Amino acid sequence: MTTLDDLPIRDDLRGRTPYGAPQLDVPVRLNTNENSYPVPEPVVEAIGKALAAELRDLNRYPDRDAVALRADLAGYLGHGLTVDQVWAANGSNEVQQQLLQAFGGPGRSALGFVPAYSMHPLLALGTCTRWVPGRRGADFGLTAEEAVAQVREHRPDVVFLCSPNNPTGTALDPAVVTAVLDVAPGMVVVDEAYAEFARPGTVSALAVLPGHPRLVVTRTMSKAFGFAGGRLGYLAADPAVVQAVQLVRLPYHLSALTQAAARAALAHRDALLGTVAAIKEQRDRIVAELRARGLRAADSDANFVLFEVGGDQSAAWRTLLDAGVLVRDVGLPGWLRVTAGTPAETDAFLTAMDKLTGTQA
Ligand code: PMP
Repeated sequence: MTTLDDLPIRDDLRGRTPYGAPQLDVPVRLNTNENSYPVPEPVVEAIGKALAAELRDLNRYPDRDAVALRADLAGYLGHGLTVDQVWAANGSNEVQQQLLQAFGGPGRSALGFVPAYSMHPLLALGTCTRWVPGRRGADFGLTAEEAVAQVREHRPDVVFLCSPNNPTGTALDPAVVTAVLDVAPGMVVVDEAYAEFARPGTVSALAVLPGHPRLVVTRTMSKAFGFAGGRLGYLAADPAVVQAVQLVRLPYHLSALTQAAARAALAHRDALLGTVAAIKEQRDRIVAELRARGLRAADSDANFVLFEVGGDQSAAWRTLLDAGVLVRDVGLPGWLRVTAGTPAETDAFLTAMDKLTGTQA
């Protein structure tokens, strides 16, 4: 049998494993920060109609520049953004890959503050961008001073900031973003995949865009919108940044079906985002319930909670899975991450946690 090692694959890819959050068929799946609520029926119908209207024209390529969708996204974001400041692709993963293709690449580097989103280093690897793992404080926080010192030391071509940060949960003060922009020699990407879940008072980096042409804010419809299967991510930045990613994007990367479905979903944003308040309630309940059990849980501005299991996290992950609850082992010793879903899913998670802590006692 041929193995990967038998193939003339790039040396830097040898021995690597692909991104792989397990997709297991268990009753309670709380491991990839999806929205647990299914798409509401009226929105299903609207998306179905929008898709049907495209079918006869599938002999033609879609709008390469997805202008109508980008205009809709700009309208959703507000902040006075216009279509030339917004770009869209198949998930924010693809947006970030395009950013690294344009601004990273061979001989260049990207810095992120770990633990953060595990795809950032993988996207760097795929684009031959040298990855620099920066550090966070002991409480997983990131101050302007810590971030600035590391950017000054490494002078990366791309800095990734993640706000709210996955897997730790907290949003960044925009002062950290502006401090990093002041010293970064290259692009600063703020990954705001979970922005819609932030606690009141949180300020998006979108507010910092005016006057900062090297700042990029990435967003997604995969989380709050409950549209992960639709694959639609986007960015907001200076129009010149949009021109830069157009140099590397594949022609017609966003199918006519994706564009139509995303536009229909956006037109029903109130129905889709209607679940956000309930999810935030479950997130806060998870934090409170875990703390009431004497376990440490990080504050969260997202739809997930990082919590301490008081022992080996991979054994704890297995025990929870055996109880029918799939959570995420992000490789942080002693910690696991759980997505906030429906009240019934929280019940199941907490029951499984009681089993776990009962076993450990
Ligand atoms: N950024 C962060 C921080 C994420 O957690 C995720 C999804 N897990 C993404 C980006 C990518 O999401 P998508 O490609 O579905 O937009």
